[in-house]
Order: sequence, then structure tokens, then C-alpha cells
Amino acid sequence: MSHKVHITDTLTKNKVPLETIEPGIVKMYVCGPTVYNYIHIGNARPMVVFDAFRRFLEFVGYKVIMVQNFTDIDDKIINEANEWGVDWKTVADTFIAEYFHDAHLLGVRAANYHPRTTDFVEDIVEAVKRIIENGYAYPVENGDVYFSVRKLPGYGKLSGKNPDDLRAGARVDISDAKKDPLDFVLWKSAKPGEPKWESPWCAGRPGWHIECSVMSQKLLGDMFDIHGGGEDLIFPHHEDEIAQGEALTGKPPAKYWMHNGMIIVRGDKMSKSLGNTFMVREAVRKYGKDGVKIFLLSKHYRSPMEFSDEILSDNMKAATRVHNTLKRFTEKYKYPLVPKEDTEMKEYIDKFVEALSDDFNTPIALSIIFDVSKELNKAMDSGDDQRALKMYHLIKRVFGPVLGIFDAEIVTTEISSDIVDNVIQKVIDLRTEFRKQKQYDLADKVRNTLLEAGVKLLDTPEGTKYEIVEGEK
Ligand SMILES: [Zn+2]
Repeated sequence: MSHKVHITDTLTKNKVPLETIEPGIVKMYVCGPTVYNYIHIGNARPMVVFDAFRRFLEFVGYKVIMVQNFTDIDDKIINEANEWGVDWKTVADTFIAEYFHDAHLLGVRAANYHPRTTDFVEDIVEAVKRIIENGYAYPVENGDVYFSVRKLPGYGKLSGKNPDDLRAGARVDISDAKKDPLDFVLWKSAKPGEPKWESPWCAGRPGWHIECSVMSQKLLGDMFDIHGGGEDLIFPHHEDEIAQGEALTGKPPAKYWMHNGMIIVRGDKMSKSLGNTFMVREAVRKYGKDGVKIFLLSKHYRSPMEFSDEILSDNMKAATRVHNTLKRFTEKYKYPLVPKEDTEMKEYIDKFVEALSDDFNTPIALSIIFDVSKELNKAMDSGDDQRALKMYHLIKRVFGPVLGIFDAEIVTTEISSDIVDNVIQKVIDLRTEFRKQKQYDLADKVRNTLLEAGVKLLDTPEGTKYEIVEGEK
């Protein structure tokens, strides 16, 4: 490996060299979605960032074992199920399928494992039993089981929060059976009508945090290399995962913690609860897969990033410029062969790897791709075929696949319906003009040509309208 990979570890707050537990293997767990709705751009950031990071690790020679869970039982899923009059599993199954649809639209590869909480309930019950036996948890009268935060020195180390400050600010509910306001639930009793699983304490279901501890341990072992997710999961979710891991095995579950920043919409975090979300499928339709991915990789993963139509449109234009350059190349050279690597190519690859090795600096990596795309155009302008071939190869077969961009022959951007609408209207205006000038032959020709293209014109008292009759013939 030409450059040692460095990452910023949220736990130590330092940029550190990645030293894996087993040489050459990276075991990575990334928290996945609670499946009760479609994926929005805020959810897509960790998907795209960690998928690209995984591709990069593979590029520099690591074998990566990646796990991403689905939280398939939760209050929000139950509420959604009640609203639709279906059971929780129908909601979960639906949105897991929709997740994979959106991941496919984004070109995000499936993880090696996608465990679902409800497939691990027995293991979760066993883990809760062990945490109680080890003295870190207690059941209360109604059968809920709480983790005893006070028993664990060092709680708060990931988020940098001080337990005493947290206690002072905690809301105390009189009905709460917790011994300490910071104690969090490991197992909760089912309310009437809620889905439930048997346990020694009561029929109920797991608390949220314990699922990730159990599934990561089952699939990756007591300690794995990298735990990732959005920074909104640092507290309490990941803090509590560390507590549970230490209560179970005496050590934290992961060696390094990586967190991506939030997507900001006009000053607020993009989230379902604030109602300011933009769905992935809508974004891909509007800005193209590569436009959306360039947007998500255009800022360093740890920084917050602003979402707006203007920014996404710029990213789409940047993607289109590169696509057009690649297309220009393939139209000119039908069978681009793999060029022999030379010093210039090696320099570009080194710079690219260096940027990504430095805490996965995707903005710099993207700027290298845009530079190479400009060089490709220049080489084609000047007829330097060999150089053009090298530049094409770098984008298409080296850099693109590492970031998961420019890897499809077909651009997934559907032309915006606004543009289509505009073009058809212009043609209609042209036909109207012909009719005014009594050039009926030409007017009919326009009408028939549009019909062949699947657009049927209807002359109405309010003017000419159209409908799409694609495939009718
Ligand atoms: Zn999690």
C-alpha cells in the first residue's frame, strides 16, 4: 500500500492510522435505517460515504467485511402499521425492499450482511441476561430491563458528555422506574396489542441500542475495526453500544468510530420529524445518480453540508460535463484498450490515493477526477489519442469505480420533465405557426412525427394540448 490510511476516530478525536485487528481485513459495522419510510438524502449520506470508503479500502488492498442492520421493530414502525391497518412486518418488509431499490439507484453495493433486529431476539435476550449477571442491568416491576449507567465508569467518553451534567439536565418522569435518569432500556414490555417476544422478564421487545451490540458481536466478533454512522448517533446510541459492549465483554465493541456530518436544509438538520426531507428516488430522478453522489461526496464526510436545489443542480452539471467528455471519447474510439501505466498515470493515482488516505478526503479526490476530465478533452482536441486513452482509463476504470461514480454506461438522469414539456410546447408553437401560414402539409408532418415519438396532439378550444401515448402505436 502506497499510503497508510488515516481516519478520524470519534473516540480519541484524533486522526489516527488505520491498524486493523487482523492484518489486511477491515471489519466494519454501519448503523442502518429504521424501516418505516423511504430513504431521504440525509439517510443516503452514510450509505454513500461508507460504501465509497469500503470501495477505497478494497482498492488499496484490504478485504472488507461490512455489516449494515435494519431496525425492523420500533414505535415508528408500529405506528405506521396501525395507520395502514397492516402488521409491523408488512411495513418492515416493504421498506427494506424499498431501501434496496434506492441503494440500487444510488449504486450503493449491498453490505456482506444486512441483519434484521427481529431475527436476533433470542441472542438479544441472552445478552441482556448476561449484562444482568455481570451486574450492569436490572429488571423493574413491569418487566422492563434497564442498563445501569452509574455502574460503568467512563460513560460519556465517545460523546464527550459528563454523566453528572447529563443527570442535571435529565427530565425525571415520576412514573419512571429507573434508578438513575441516565439508565437506558435494554428490554421493554409490550403495551396491549403491540408485537412481543417471550423473555424471562416479560413479553416485550428489545430496546434500540442493544440490537446493534448483539448483531455486530454475532457477525463480526467481540471487537471489530470500525463502527460507523451519522453523527446524530454518537449520543446516546453509540455511547450506549460502548457501555453494553464493555458490560458484555469488558472491552468496547469497536476499535475506531467514524461519523458523518448532517445534511442541513435552511439551517435545520434534514429529518423526517422536521418534515424537510428530500427522498433519494426523487433526487436521483431530478439530478441523476452521479449528480446526487457528487453532491454527497463533495464535502468532507465529517462536515455538515447544505442541501439546496441550486447546489444539487451545480453537482448535476459537473456530472454531466464528465459524462459528455466520456461519451465524446467512446464515440471516437469504439474499443478503448487498457493503456500501459506510465509515470503520469501513476502520479494521478498516487494523488488520488493520498487524498483518500488522508481521512477519506473525497472533495480533493473529486477535484482530481474533474482535472483528468479536462485533460481528456484537451487530449481529444489536440488529437493525442494515447493520452486521451490514459485519461479515459483513469476516470472510467480507476477513479470512478472507487467512488462509485461514472461507472454506468447509461446515465441514470431522466431528462427533467420540465425540459420535455418545454420542448413539446415549442414544437406545438411551430405547428401552430405553420397552420397560420396555411402550410398544412408541414403542420400535419409535425403532428405525425410527434405521434411517432409517442406524443399525441389534441386541438381543443383552449389551444393545442398533448398527451403521451408511448407504446400505443
Ligand atoms: Zn446502531
